[in-house]
This record gives sequence, C-alpha cells and structure tokens, in this order.
Amino acid sequence: MPDLKVAIAGAGGQMGRANMLAVLQTPGVALYSAFDRIGAPVIGKDAGELVGLETSDVLIVDHVEAALAGAQAIIDFTAPANSVAIARLAAERGMVHIVGTTGCTVEDDEAIRKAARAGARIVKAGNFSLGVNLLLGLVEQAARALPGFDVEILEMHHNRKVDAPSGTALMLGEAAARGRNITLSDYSARVRDGHTGARQEGTIGFASLRGGNVIGEHSVILAGPSERIEIRHIADNRALFAEGAVRAALWAQQQKPGFYSMADVLGFNS
Ligand code: NAD
Repeated sequence: MPDLKVAIAGAGGQMGRANMLAVLQTPGVALYSAFDRIGAPVIGKDAGELVGLETSDVLIVDHVEAALAGAQAIIDFTAPANSVAIARLAAERGMVHIVGTTGCTVEDDEAIRKAARAGARIVKAGNFSLGVNLLLGLVEQAARALPGFDVEILEMHHNRKVDAPSGTALMLGEAAARGRNITLSDYSARVRDGHTGARQEGTIGFASLRGGNVIGEHSVILAGPSERIEIRHIADNRALFAEGAVRAALWAQQQKPGFYSMADVLGFNS
C-alpha cells in the first residue's frame, strides 16, 4: 500500500515539529506538506532540516489550501479556531483530520463533530498517549468504586501553555464523572480563591500549575476519610503524543467518515 500522504498544521510549534519528526520516521506515512500561520518564522524553511534530519524537500508554507491539495490526512495541534476551519476543509475533501488542539469551546467541538458528519474522518483527543488513555479507564473505575471519596485533578505544564485546565485534565474529569454517573459541567470546581467555604460534596476539583518546560504531568487524587489514592501520569517527551497522532491517522484512513476518540484507535471501546 502506498504511504499515507500527511500534511502538518502548525509546523513551527512544539507539537508541529514533533509531529513532522514522527511522520518522517514512521513507515507507512509520508510527509506531504507542512504549514503555519502567515508571518511565522518557519515559513520557507525545509521541514526535515527544521527537525534535525536531512533535507526533506517539503518547504513550510503559509497557505492551508495549498498544503491540503493532494494530501490524505492532516495532523493538527494548533489553536481552536484554526482546527474548526481545517475540519471544514477536511470534510469537503473527505480527509483524515487528527485534532490534538486543546481549549476548544462547546461550539468549537460541535463544529468539528459537524465536519465529521459531513465527510471528514476525525480523531480528536486531549491526549494521544497510550498511558493517559489507559488511565482514563482506571480513573472511571476508581471513581465508581469509591463513591464517598473527593476527586481532585492536579496538572502541571510549561509556562507557554495558553489554556487551563489542560485537555487531559478535563478528559480525566470526564472519566471520573462517568464513574459517578454525573455530568462533569454540573459538578466541576474549576477555581478556588478567597473564602470559598467547605468543599462541596460530590464535586470534581481542578488545579493547574504552570512553569518551566514541563511537558505534562497529571495526578488524579481520590481522598477518603482515612486514606488517599493518587493515580499519576508523567509525559517525558512530546514524541509519545506525535507517535499516537500518526497511529491515529493510519487507523482513521481505514474507517468510515465520522468522529472518533483515541480510545477507538486503541480498541478500548470494542
Ligand atoms: P505551540 O504554540 O508551540 O504551537 C502552535 C503552532 O500552531 C504555532 O506554530 C502556531 O503558529 C500555529 N498556528 C496557530 N494558529 C495557526 C493558524 N491559523 N494556521 C496555521 N498555524 C497556526 O503549541 P504546542 O505546545 O505545539 O501545542 C499546540 C496545541 O496542542 C495546544 O492546544 C496544546 O494544548 C495541544 N497539545 C495536545 C496534546 C495531545 O496529546 N492532544 C499534546 C500536547 C499539546
């Protein structure tokens, strides 16, 4: 089978670079094009050289339509408005769209799901690592088994991250909410400041730390009256997200148009 032709969005970003490296190093996929926003410092640079490999003959462009012409899949870890726009283009072209962007609003998510109904094969996940997706099942199970325990989710990321709580923290919160049979938005405690009063029973709390170069650390703490369980995940490098995104692209190419999660890719839902 010929290699899957992959376009990379946000090629100059931290994840864009990791995604290009993963595509260039993975059998079965070929780096077809790469783009970033108008004015980004990487425009015109060679994708291979940018990630420390030999020349790839793929120059980074600033025009999405030019990058998508002829591509079969796009890996997109950029910004919510951009991911919504790309989802629409992917639907028109029947393409695979791998969305790693976090911080999407409910409206953004609905627009992306609409594109999946209109012909795109979309895999969207707040975290593409195997470990975190495994953790989701463990958290759901623990929250169900320990109904009286307080659930708190703590995350830390580098000082350039623009959204909080992280997409992964929200996925972990959703998993705990599933275990409790509740809707997360009705029970989440996102901010605590000043005289907050006692903790409200049954809520799922979030706390976000930002600093240095931390790639991503998440702890789910279940605190009972006389014991505490902590389930923790630490990402050591960005390659694990990129490898998951490439795996998702290869998987999605074999699926019908629709909206999928990383749990679908990993076979956790079958
Ligand atoms: P970054 O700021 O380093 O990179 C973002 C890139 O997107 C930049 O190069 C920027 O110029 C580009 N961009 C923004 N708007 C664009 C547009 N309209 N057209 C083309 N390019 C555009 O950020 P990052 O650390 O690489 O993270 C990117 C996103 O991925 C964030 O939302 C982050 O939370 C998310 N992320 C997800 C996972 C996951 O597994 N799902 C893992 C890590 C990061």
